[in-house]
Amino acid sequence: MCDNNKSVIIIGGGLVGALCACFLAKRGYNIEIYEVREDLRKCKLQRGRSINLALSHRGRRALRSVGLEEAVLKHAIPMKGRLLHNLPDELSSVLYDEHTNQCIYSVSRNLLNEILLSAAESYENVKLFFSCKLVEANLKEGHCLIQNLKTSESIRSKADLIIGADGAYSKMRSHLQKLPLFQYSQTYIEHGYLELCISSEKGHLMIPNHLHIWPRGEFMMIALPNKDNSWTVTLFMALKKFKMLDSREKLLKFFESTFPDSIDLIGKDDLVEQFFSSKPSHLISIKCSPYHFENRALIIGDAAHAMVPFYGQGMNCGFEDCTLLDQLLSEFDGNFEYVLEKFSERRKEDAFAICDLAMYNFKEMRDLVTKPSFRLRKALDNLLYKLFPNHWIPLYNSVSFSEIKYTDCLKNREWQNRVLAAAVICLFLLGLLMIVF
Ligand SMILES: Cc1cc2nc3c(=O)[nH]c(=O)nc-3n(C[C@H](O)[C@H](O)[C@H](O)COP(=O)(O)OP(=O)(O)OC[C@H]3O[C@@H](n4cnc5c(N)ncnc54)[C@H](O)[C@@H]3O)c2cc1C
Repeated sequence: MCDNNKSVIIIGGGLVGALCACFLAKRGYNIEIYEVREDLRKCKLQRGRSINLALSHRGRRALRSVGLEEAVLKHAIPMKGRLLHNLPDELSSVLYDEHTNQCIYSVSRNLLNEILLSAAESYENVKLFFSCKLVEANLKEGHCLIQNLKTSESIRSKADLIIGADGAYSKMRSHLQKLPLFQYSQTYIEHGYLELCISSEKGHLMIPNHLHIWPRGEFMMIALPNKDNSWTVTLFMALKKFKMLDSREKLLKFFESTFPDSIDLIGKDDLVEQFFSSKPSHLISIKCSPYHFENRALIIGDAAHAMVPFYGQGMNCGFEDCTLLDQLLSEFDGNFEYVLEKFSERRKEDAFAICDLAMYNFKEMRDLVTKPSFRLRKALDNLLYKLFPNHWIPLYNSVSFSEIKYTDCLKNREWQNRVLAAAVICLFLLGLLMIVF
């Protein structure tokens, strides 16, 4: 333990804020977490918040560092590959890693958050405040103005460091945005998402241990398993298309022609009830920099780099932020000035890269997976990965099953593309020579 006189305020007790508290608590900092929502451990589960998430290597590594990997994996379901529901009525399994059987894990967002909050709370140097919203922050002085939404009381708190882990619509980031030289861009994609559910009574009809995908070109549906045998289904579709499906008849007609095998699984009446009882949510991608202000403030997780969910990396990347912060605290002996500056420096390119990769993967999941050229490439990648496991790591594997920097995953893929293009040209010339001579 070191630095045990320093105090840290964490805004947001979501996945990344709660994990970050565990990392910092281990180091002995005095921590206050302010979370705008009620304590979800005491709330009844609401549909729409019950999304399950794919946990992969980077996230597992961070959980392992604070001794929580086993506790989380105990409640998780391994997914060894994609199970494609192609039209008409054809299923095909595409494994993530044919050679070493690595898999990603489906885990309930709420359960994971509960585990992380309880772990943070178990440190005596961590205090949790729920229904408490950050209203204002004075980054220069390290002051926060918090409002207790239950009592309407205003709380003033001060710390050596304020960490904003308050998600994509971060209040902390809005303070950084007012500072000179802060770079910021946001992109809403035209697609939104809506959650549906396959109940545990029908769940056994789904092939287990896969992430199911219904790829349909311009849109797609996916399903991730839950521990109780039910499946959380997420429909990703252009928001204007959602609007067009404004009656039971139109919805059922659309599902019958687009996702026919899903109707019995979800159930006709349940589908209609679930579809019309909630509104589709937007999807945003945010790039910004730097992530810090002097030695006083830092943003992490979605607050720093919200991304579209198609690589299943938003949380994993946020968890990796915590790993990096922890490494830097060791490297610079807890000197916040160096730690925060280096955090921004080292994280920016990687965060930008995974935001781009997440956009790319939407196209791969909804469209490319059905193309013969994609399957050929996948087969080639698998073969080369088997022959040269240390030198030819396919893109998905490097992102999901390694600690390779996201920027290097991208560069690696570009290099592989060049090698394959050169190989194709050589083969073509060889063929030509054989014909001529
Ligand atoms: C449909 C969908 C599927 C996804 N699937 C995956 C997946 O499979 N794998 C994966 O790795 N990622 C996935 N993600 C991304 C993942 O959900 C996010 O990256 C992750 O939740 C980010 O965690 P966070 O703690 O940074 O932000 P959040 O989870 O948004 O938490 C922020 C917290 O801050 C609180 N807060 C906000 N404002 C204030 C304030 N002013 N004062 C106090 N508290 C505040 C919020 O209440 C919240 O609890 C998915 C996202 C979506 C939308």
